[in-house]
Amino acid sequence: MVTLQSYPGNGLNVIMRDSLVSARRAAALSIVILAAASSRAGSQQAALQKTGDDEIDRRVAAVMPQVITWRRDFHEHPELGNHEVRTAKIVADYLRSLGLEVREGVAKTGVVGVLRGGKPGGVVALRADMDALPVTEQVDLPFKSKVRTTFAGQDVGVMHACGHDAHTAMLMGAATVLAGMRAQIPGTVKFIFQPAEEGPPPGERGGARVMIEEGALENPAPSAIFGLHVWPEEPGKLSFKPGAAMSMADGLTIIVKGKQTHGAQPWKGVDPVVVSAEIITALQTITARQTDITLAPAVVTVATINGGVRGNIIPDSVVMTGTVRTFDKAMREDVHMRITRTAELIARASGATATVDFGAASGSSPVFNDPALLARMTPTITRVALGKVNPNAVWMPSEDYALYQEKVPGLFLFLGINKPGVKADDAAANHSPLFFVNEDALPVGVKALAGLAFDYLSGGAK
Ligand SMILES: [Zn+2]
Ligand SMILES: [Zn+2]
Repeated sequence: MVTLQSYPGNGLNVIMRDSLVSARRAAALSIVILAAASSRAGSQQAALQKTGDDEIDRRVAAVMPQVITWRRDFHEHPELGNHEVRTAKIVADYLRSLGLEVREGVAKTGVVGVLRGGKPGGVVALRADMDALPVTEQVDLPFKSKVRTTFAGQDVGVMHACGHDAHTAMLMGAATVLAGMRAQIPGTVKFIFQPAEEGPPPGERGGARVMIEEGALENPAPSAIFGLHVWPEEPGKLSFKPGAAMSMADGLTIIVKGKQTHGAQPWKGVDPVVVSAEIITALQTITARQTDITLAPAVVTVATINGGVRGNIIPDSVVMTGTVRTFDKAMREDVHMRITRTAELIARASGATATVDFGAASGSSPVFNDPALLARMTPTITRVALGKVNPNAVWMPSEDYALYQEKVPGLFLFLGINKPGVKADDAAANHSPLFFVNEDALPVGVKALAGLAFDYLSGGAK
């Protein structure tokens, strides 16, 4: 994982100062009848939101012991993508007990719950992911995972090493809070519990793409979607950024074909090992020398290289795999072109060939926070995080949440879950066997989910 630390800017202060100025101006103009009317409507709306805020805070405090219990239970019983059967059943049964309309088996193990508020209004969606990873837990917890399974032919542990246990529990908490306020909610809230965010097992389909194909964003169709992800940062801090906030991930497979020969007579064949070494080194110059990284970050990684069976046989071919991360579609096309050109021409220079493939998932978007929606919801985010926000956060990993945002304007926030005093760079990264979630940060996540949904609908969703 590459985390690009950003700096606490003062953009929010500027926004807050601006809104103070415009509030004063609005007050000065209130002698104009129209302005007075709109000001009255505005203050009624503000009063509604204020009452809602207080009630959300109270209800979140009440549900937190249950959220912690759910989270620990999911943590102790993690399930890999497309196998979240136990988790999904707990979620579906609970949503039903709250009186929600519940659909199960969406994209294999996904659950969608619909809460219809007591007043007419728009539709908003909240999303959590439920899957765990093939990682053997090394954190010493009373509810540590002891689950093992076979993944891609290997015996592995299973661990919620990306914090999806916390995401699922927090969204169940938000559902509890909002179901308790049903009579006051102007509109409908959709709860999307998604499987296989980390990718389906080899040979299967799954995740957000299949959730959308199977109608997660229809009947009713939301006009906005909100979600969040835990990450190693100051506990309770909410980080976000307008525009592209997480990278697009493309696979990378390069097959270098040479000609097999005796290890002592390389001139009688074409050595794909030496060609592969040249390609790997040259690929690093694409981001370091050929890409304008002032526009957006980009990463090219070769993570595996396989070829040959014996020290005295130069093999016929070498297969390399890796990943390409970019934030901008034009830059992605350009980086792909340069990877292909570099690999093919270096291979050709030695009489070998190289074929380059970026995988079937290539073509999706980055996690993209709608700037207008973010501006509108920033007061809610700032309020629930008690001002502990970073409005300039970029994260190099990818999320299939981006696929929902291709259909519906949405926001994706990062919730800091470090132990107090642990710096972001000193904490174990997501996907590490030492990844740790500080549960004291989770109330902020529940408040964010419930507050964003309530405030969005109260603000007059279209
Ligand atoms: Zn992950
Ligand atoms: Zn994740």
